[in-house]
Amino acid sequence: MDTWVKRELHGWGRYPRLEAEVARPERLRDVQAALADRGGLPVLAHGLGRSYGDVALLENGRVILTRRLDRMLEFDPATGRVKAEAGVSIQELVETFLPHGFFPAVVPGTWFVTLGGAVANDIHGKSHHVDGTFCDHISQLEILTASGEIVACGPDLEPELFWATVGGLGLTGVILTVELTLRPVAGPWIVQEAVRTEDLDDFFRVSAESADFSHTVTWIDCVTGGKGLGRGIMMRGRHAPPGVEGDPGMVGKAIDALSPLMHVPVDGPSWLLNKATIRLFNEAYFRKQPRGQVDSVIHYIPFFFPLDFVKDWNRIYGKRGFLQYQLVVPPDPDHRVMREVLSAITATGMGSFLSVIKEFGDQVHGGLSFPRPGTTLALDFAHSGQPLFDLCDRLDDIVSDAGGRVYLGKDARLSRAHFRRQYPEWEAWKAVRDAWDPQGVFQSAMGQRLGLCGGSK
Ligand SMILES: Cc1cc2nc3c(=O)[nH]c(=O)nc-3n(C[C@H](O)[C@H](O)[C@H](O)COP(=O)(O)OP(=O)(O)OC[C@H]3O[C@@H](n4cnc5c(N)ncnc54)[C@H](O)[C@@H]3O)c2cc1C
Repeated sequence: MDTWVKRELHGWGRYPRLEAEVARPERLRDVQAALADRGGLPVLAHGLGRSYGDVALLENGRVILTRRLDRMLEFDPATGRVKAEAGVSIQELVETFLPHGFFPAVVPGTWFVTLGGAVANDIHGKSHHVDGTFCDHISQLEILTASGEIVACGPDLEPELFWATVGGLGLTGVILTVELTLRPVAGPWIVQEAVRTEDLDDFFRVSAESADFSHTVTWIDCVTGGKGLGRGIMMRGRHAPPGVEGDPGMVGKAIDALSPLMHVPVDGPSWLLNKATIRLFNEAYFRKQPRGQVDSVIHYIPFFFPLDFVKDWNRIYGKRGFLQYQLVVPPDPDHRVMREVLSAITATGMGSFLSVIKEFGDQVHGGLSFPRPGTTLALDFAHSGQPLFDLCDRLDDIVSDAGGRVYLGKDARLSRAHFRRQYPEWEAWKAVRDAWDPQGVFQSAMGQRLGLCGGSK
């Protein structure tokens, strides 16, 4: 077992940055030893740090970095069932099992995510309307709980602990292993259609027409107002059937095309992402897609993980970092709420550099899990201090009033009052959590902020 060392940690948004004592256990028994050796301090697990805000951070506590827990433990080639340690990444899962003809049913927009992190934020992907979340494909977890006991749980075994851990933000214990079932696929290819959507109504029209595509996501322009409000480009696709293949050199060509950008080695200067450059980017991105539809067969990496081509792209936002604001609002026939959200953003001129919109399916998990039926919108804003906080406060009001919620895996600043309105099941979730951890061993900066840990009121 390592000794604990002090380290500053941050999420993908690089805000906030908090110091903790960290350890990097390599074996499951070392995690148990780390918990026993916590010196009375609170503890939190931390995966690949791809959550954006403070959900994976803990000040004045002990943080267990899980990345060295990276072993595949079992695989059944007849069913695609895999059991793996929680520090295994989605990249490792895909690269190990795609050659055997299997792919996860649900993947997020980056493959640098651990299985433990995927569970703790109950992550969703482009296939939510068909496949639900990552956790809908899990049969069992093993969790190191606050008492030091390892407890197996699943939908049919200790279900309360299981469902409190799904989207439980790491506050029920350290997930040690994950057992899930992968989906059979013919190979690495995706049949894709890219469709330009001219405004918000057009987005909803194309989205409704796309229900039989297993994967959909739409880039949306959050700078342009007026007639173009909500214009974008939908990417919809499905795993290609046997015999349908794309250009085998495609990934190499994409890497070559992006090679000048392959690594953002230093923090971007503060002027780099201003109103004018964000507007220019959005305009150029929209115009590069011809009107109507473009069909192609593309490799799964650019389809699922396009941003992973550029290492450390989060540094482009400069030293102050950035905030991601992801919301979901229930369906409303006139799309009034989404229009109000977009108008609030365009009115500030603050512009989100990269924004995506998607309609979720019906699967809901309760507790602190984010997805619910309706429309989700994810926005990236350079950290500009108070003006950005004011905009986010305004968006919180719209979202809470509409019965929607903010994704906690991306959040760094939601107030306790808004949280309680947006996640009305929080008390039931906390009762289960407190039963497994009455002393508040597992804590996080977000948990403290939102009143989720131990005896916090
Ligand atoms: C470019 C990009 C695209 C993304 N796209 C999506 C998307 O499409 N859909 C989506 O849902 N999310 C998306 N995300 C967010 C990301 O999937 C989640 O934040 C995920 O939880 C990150 O996993 P991680 O391993 O980095 O965990 P961390 O960020 O390190 O931790 C996240 C949470 O998991 C907990 N945790 C980690 N490991 C364990 C463990 N072993 N036991 C208990 N708790 C643990 C931590 O305490 C923390 O609460 C994206 C992020 C990026 C940067």
